[in-house]
Amino acid sequence: MDNLIAGYQRFRETTWPERRRLFETLAERGQSPRAAVLACIDSRVDPAMIFDAGPGEILTIRNVANLAPTYAPDGASHGTSAALEFAVCGLEVSELIVLGHGQCGGIRALLDDAPQTLGAFIGPWIRQADRARRRALECAPAERQLEAEYEAIRLSLDNLMTFPWVAERVAAGTLTLHGAHFAVHTGVLAVLGADGRFTPAVA
Ligand SMILES: [Zn+2]
Repeated sequence: MDNLIAGYQRFRETTWPERRRLFETLAERGQSPRAAVLACIDSRVDPAMIFDAGPGEILTIRNVANLAPTYAPDGASHGTSAALEFAVCGLEVSELIVLGHGQCGGIRALLDDAPQTLGAFIGPWIRQADRARRRALECAPAERQLEAEYEAIRLSLDNLMTFPWVAERVAAGTLTLHGAHFAVHTGVLAVLGADGRFTPAVA
């Protein structure tokens, strides 16, 4: 914890004075981010850092392997669905981005067919993305990890459309869905095009 407190001290001494007015305004007026990002919990992939976004700019939802579940209003606890509901219905964000990344451990476990050995929660969670595993197995071994990461993003986007309040807003043109992938080793952000392919966001 000591290194975290030291980091907080640096924040308090440098960032806080610079951003104080912004924080005060956000506290007074509340948040109104225009975008929500569904990202992996991986500590190497920080959406705010990647998109150079400040306080109040993006709402971030994180889970293992950046997976959107399907719509399942069954009375059980669904953390990601609750966060999506708040972002879409509460904050009315106009953009929803699924951000995958390279070397994703959750995707690797899925490819290794390891979900059954991953414990009570990770296994069933990762198994949702079995479509990505099947798709990746059609590729050459060297391409499987990346292809599974890509397909998990496409799957999440498909699953998001099973939420009626997402589909309604997309149809009305008030919400746009996007897929993106961040390569940890090169820093390249690739975005999903209408043709289903990922290409670098910046030339
Ligand atoms: Zn990951």
